[in-house]
Amino acid sequence: MGNQRTLKAYEWIIGILGLIILAWIAATQELESSWLLVGCWALSYLLFSDKAVFLTADAAFMPGYPLVIAALSTTGLPGAAWLILTSFLWHGIRNRSQIPRISFNMGSVAIALLAANGIMVAFWGTSNLLEPLSFQGLLRGLVMILTYHVVLTAAHSLFSYITDPELRFTARLTSSLKKSVRWFVPSYYFFSLLLIQLAQTGGIVAILFFLSAIYALWRQFYLSHAYEQESVRAATDSLTGVANREGFRRYLSRTLSPDKLPAAVLFVDIDDFKSLNDRFGHEFGDRALCTVASTLRKSVREEDLIVRWGGEEFIVFLWNTSLEQALSIAERICGSVRECKLPFDAEITVSIGCSGTNNVDEVSRLVYEADHALYRAKHEGKNRVYVAAASE
Ligand code: GH3
Ligand code: MG
Ligand code: MG
Repeated sequence: MGNQRTLKAYEWIIGILGLIILAWIAATQELESSWLLVGCWALSYLLFSDKAVFLTADAAFMPGYPLVIAALSTTGLPGAAWLILTSFLWHGIRNRSQIPRISFNMGSVAIALLAANGIMVAFWGTSNLLEPLSFQGLLRGLVMILTYHVVLTAAHSLFSYITDPELRFTARLTSSLKKSVRWFVPSYYFFSLLLIQLAQTGGIVAILFFLSAIYALWRQFYLSHAYEQESVRAATDSLTGVANREGFRRYLSRTLSPDKLPAAVLFVDIDDFKSLNDRFGHEFGDRALCTVASTLRKSVREEDLIVRWGGEEFIVFLWNTSLEQALSIAERICGSVRECKLPFDAEITVSIGCSGTNNVDEVSRLVYEADHALYRAKHEGKNRVYVAAASE
């Protein structure tokens, strides 16, 4: 999977190249705007690019992006270079073990910055948008942000190409550009122009005020999104992607209702799984678990719940399903699992315990009863379905 050494080398090359560019700009070009404005952009850039964001390979695309554009237009190349250098130092010192990744992000931003500035100077003699909301300003802004974006995307496409060369570099670049032109560029374009206009008319206080409001909103969104992701993760089995016991608990408390009776449970256990693991290895075992999980998914309705109960045990929870219907679903599952295609032409079978009820107070006992029936199915010779005595 990918070439770690080439990737590290690539990170270092881009990082060092970026540092040389930034150091050269800072040393040779005169700062024409105020240091206060540069400081304001730098501080905002730090706020918007926190640690979690900065250590991923996509960091340069995150919300700090319009700030680089705004800094380039209002403080020129030296101002933007200082902003990136400050950020590199801040994140580099705090996360020393991640310096190659952080310097790669900085480096790709520096190269993209140089390209955007170069295009602007070649066409209009300056990277300043002057009047960002006039027709000329909008056009210049578009050219500047597109150049910046294409260069940045190319650097990052090469990064992901080295990580996993299966997809060709050009295919990756085109798909990445297509996606970003639709999502990032328009919003970043208008956000950058707004920031530049604000800096020119309202000054530093206006920018700070505006950015702190946006920051508060962004944080809010970011945190609630992260919380939601965490919450889904806590209820999902990471190997097979089906629910885990916590997911089952939540599902029951959300859906429990007499209107949905009758209810049924299938307790599914893979036969002789230990010996399959021993013969073909654990990787095969993991593959088989995923195959069984997806077979279960395909065998029931969208609204039914599949749970990985433990090691090689799954349960299927079915509302609005009679015991007879559950039994025929279980037989169908047994047949589908037997026909699964697996590596080494291995064959797997499952045993299923089945329980059902018409009483809402007994729903919580269904799993226990189905487990009991499963025990009987195993006892009778495996690869079969058995119905719980209490359900009959
Ligand atoms: P039976 O037919 O009676 O159910 O026998 P069995 O071998 O399937 O049952 P047993 O409970 O003895 O063994 C279950 C095995 O499942 C043991 C364990 O190594 C394996 N297992 C549990 N979780 C995982 C997993 O996540 N991945 C893999 N590869 N194996 C697992
Ligand atoms: Mg088993
Ligand atoms: Mg078992």
